[in-house]
Amino acid sequence: MRRDNQQLLINGQWEAGEGKKRKIINPADESVIIEIAEATDHQANNAVNAARKAFDETDWSVYPGKRVKVLLKVAELLENSLHEVARLETLNTGKPIRESRMDVEDSITCLKYYAGLVDSVSPREIEMEDGSASEVIHEPVGVCSLILPWNFPLLLGMWKIAPALAAGNTVVFKPSEVTPLSIIRFAELLEEAGVPDGVFNVILGEGATVGEAITANRDVDKVSFTGSVETGRKINEICARSFKRVSLELGGKSPLLILQDADIEKAVAWIMFGGFFNQGEVCVAASRILIHESIYQPVVRLLTEKVNKIKIGNPLDETTEMGPIVSGNHLGEIKGYLTLGVEDGATLIGGQQIGVQGFYLQPAIFIDVDQHMRIVQEEIFGPVITVQSFQDEEEAIGFANGTNYGLAAGIISEDVDHAFTVASRIKAGTIWINNYHIPYAEAPWGGYKQSGIGRELGPQGLDSYREVKHVNKISQLKAPGWYGFENDRKEG
Ligand code: NAD
Repeated sequence: MRRDNQQLLINGQWEAGEGKKRKIINPADESVIIEIAEATDHQANNAVNAARKAFDETDWSVYPGKRVKVLLKVAELLENSLHEVARLETLNTGKPIRESRMDVEDSITCLKYYAGLVDSVSPREIEMEDGSASEVIHEPVGVCSLILPWNFPLLLGMWKIAPALAAGNTVVFKPSEVTPLSIIRFAELLEEAGVPDGVFNVILGEGATVGEAITANRDVDKVSFTGSVETGRKINEICARSFKRVSLELGGKSPLLILQDADIEKAVAWIMFGGFFNQGEVCVAASRILIHESIYQPVVRLLTEKVNKIKIGNPLDETTEMGPIVSGNHLGEIKGYLTLGVEDGATLIGGQQIGVQGFYLQPAIFIDVDQHMRIVQEEIFGPVITVQSFQDEEEAIGFANGTNYGLAAGIISEDVDHAFTVASRIKAGTIWINNYHIPYAEAPWGGYKQSGIGRELGPQGLDSYREVKHVNKISQLKAPGWYGFENDRKEG
């Protein structure tokens, strides 16, 4: 970890932030891990200038082979540093160490996937009926500002960094002000892997200052943002002013449907994994559980029993199943929703704060809930699930689609073909049948409705960092056949 107070990377140089000082806190015990000096707007704009210059004046965007080398090398370096980076991620976010290792492993997979995809579909040639020929060429968009939340600082970062660099863009990266540590370490590895100066820049600081600076700067061609709907709306509005390219990965309130034929034990296991993985601080968390009325009682009984046995504690302990909430602020927000749910008439099971040091919270289950309640409609982003029963699938689909979100959904059933027909009626970007949470580098990720615009991962993830150019050509120069010139063009 860089302890020299120089934690901004601008044009290949590490420099000290000239803005606010911020203590980075370990949520497991509230100790200070390190103090960070954040960037000023001026430094943020310097980072954009560096990225602009690197894009316009170097050959980074010209040679795919060079980019593949850097991506594969940094994947190798990350593999060698897996345990160190995973530990840093756990210290900063509170997520259980084995989940942090999965994040690093998935980050490596993502880097390798996009290294393999760099030149896959470009250029594409098309012979036209009129004798002309077209080439469809993909070009990098240019300078990309990448803005990230705190729940998967490295992995979600990689979903943007890998395709952005693979496509030949240059980057200004802003992690969440709460969780910058793993990305600072990754930037060091990227330097070691030979990324040219200015191609990858890191700035630290708050959204309202440096975040907005790297969104509004006219030298930025694209903003890719992951975070809340509220911030996404602001970023979208700023980008709209100059028609800047924008991708938004926003919040969710994802339903998990337990169909009538589901095995009760397995269903409960998926509910817990879907709802409480990463302390429920996951955009796709299965936060609304919809259970067929014929099995509602036994599922809730077993769920309540099993949830009490989740091992909550020090996230560095290999056997821990749930760590602390990321920050005291966020713990306060979650507790606010627990109070609100009870005030609205729902019954709360669990949800007590644990201990006096560290931001630990028992998982919470709300039963006796109605579709219109705020705890059912709004993203809580913690270990809190609401449980509803449904009479038939028509009602289940109505509940599933009955929020402003459309990020993900899950269906648990013995009949996969039938579950697939249910999936076709749910408005969500990712639907898992008898599975949950797993992102696949090869398959797209993103939201319907207010859960976002655009897709990450898969070939779509690479396309979101490329402009498409169509060049049409006729090999022999001839007159077009208008305004009295002889028409020697073949009609189609
Ligand atoms: P947030 O919106 O508060 O902040 C996200 C990032 O945006 C941070 O880096 C922050 O500094 C920055 N930011 C804040 N205001 C800004 C502004 N005006 N201009 C530019 N940048 C600004 O979100 P958060 O609390 O860090 O993360 C939780 C949210 O992220 C949840 O809503 C969750 O659903 C969402 N999320 C979505 C996905 C997905 O893939 N769809 C993944 C993870 C998290």
